[in-house]
Amino acid sequence: MATTAENLKCKECGRTYPLKALFVCEFCFGPLEVAYDYEKIRRRATKERISHGPPSLWRYKDFLPVNDKPAVDLQAGFTPLIKADRLAAELGLKKLWVKNDTANPTHSFKDRVVSVALQRALEMGFEVVACASTGNLANSVAAHAAASGTEAFVFVPANLEIQKIIATAIYGVNVVKVNGNYDDVNRLCTEIASEKNWAFVNVNVRPYYAEGSKTLAFETAEQLGWRAPDKVVTPVASGSLLTKIHKGFWELGEVGLIRRKAPSVHGAQALGCGPVAAAYAEEAEHVKPVKPDTIAKSLAIGNPADGIFALEVVRETGGSIESVTEQEIVDGIKLLAETTGIFTETAGGVTTAVLAKLAAAGKIYPDDETVLYITGDGLKTLDAVADTISTFQIDPSYSQFEEDVLGEVIKS
Ligand SMILES: [Zn+2]
Repeated sequence: MATTAENLKCKECGRTYPLKALFVCEFCFGPLEVAYDYEKIRRRATKERISHGPPSLWRYKDFLPVNDKPAVDLQAGFTPLIKADRLAAELGLKKLWVKNDTANPTHSFKDRVVSVALQRALEMGFEVVACASTGNLANSVAAHAAASGTEAFVFVPANLEIQKIIATAIYGVNVVKVNGNYDDVNRLCTEIASEKNWAFVNVNVRPYYAEGSKTLAFETAEQLGWRAPDKVVTPVASGSLLTKIHKGFWELGEVGLIRRKAPSVHGAQALGCGPVAAAYAEEAEHVKPVKPDTIAKSLAIGNPADGIFALEVVRETGGSIESVTEQEIVDGIKLLAETTGIFTETAGGVTTAVLAKLAAAGKIYPDDETVLYITGDGLKTLDAVADTISTFQIDPSYSQFEEDVLGEVIKS
């Protein structure tokens, strides 16, 4: 069934463009976003049709800019929404859920955006896919390219965590380590994109790619019994995820699947790379680029493309964007693991730490229905917490177990 998407629309001046591999407005250089025929979606996307759809993000295909059934389907999405009572109690909250996107095929939310980008790229006839990545995107592009037999070039900062490089190269794609930070990699990719007829998922296919993130909101609403929560907390790298979660809830209201309601959207950044949080704190109209210096490498985008739109969303919805220290990130990872059984990468440490901060500051009330978005797996960033764990080591002897293990446990 043909897509419900109508065209690409400039977010700044509103000019429209055909559904091609375009990403920036020729007139004002504003970013392009997919616009839909919501009447068409309203007619197609009933709760019944969605609930009979596949247990993946493709159950929301009516809201996505793709025509065909997915050629590549790693069954991304439809991840668990878990009631986190122990974490809630720890923070003085009562109604808290964790959306566990570590449960995706390559263990981060990027599988959502890549599923949509790759499908759209293949529909547009591209034969090579590529991306600039801080790691999670690299993993996902590589896996989806491998599954579809598409050639892929993945560009990453050379200093990326080794786990993320291995978990990309294993799929047999071309991994290019660039001496520089993510913003350097991104600049290089924009240049390559103008030379080569490749689908750069987060450059010339970005408008389609970004739409995949809306499915986080769709699933949250469906899993809550078709309603939006009061507050959501989400990490901020480019700012795109935050704006698309907002758009997702808005769309569900627009087509009548939930009561119209915009949850307060709270964004989370690391202090070591918090340009959007800084702009929020200063009530600035622009986001000043920074040089990233943080263990939260998947959020280390110093010049965030959608930062300004993320600011708009949080201001409009009564949310905020906060930042946390490196120690708070590590504490956040541990707090989440110890109270929910979910081991997150550093980005989730940032998000959990910001949730804790918001709860402590009274910006999230105990009775607020709150959803915490955990977007990546801790096995990808083991180094961040390797020094903080403790274990026992003994000889295979009962008496030593009693003395050195039980003795210590009882003492503490
Ligand atoms: Zn424009």
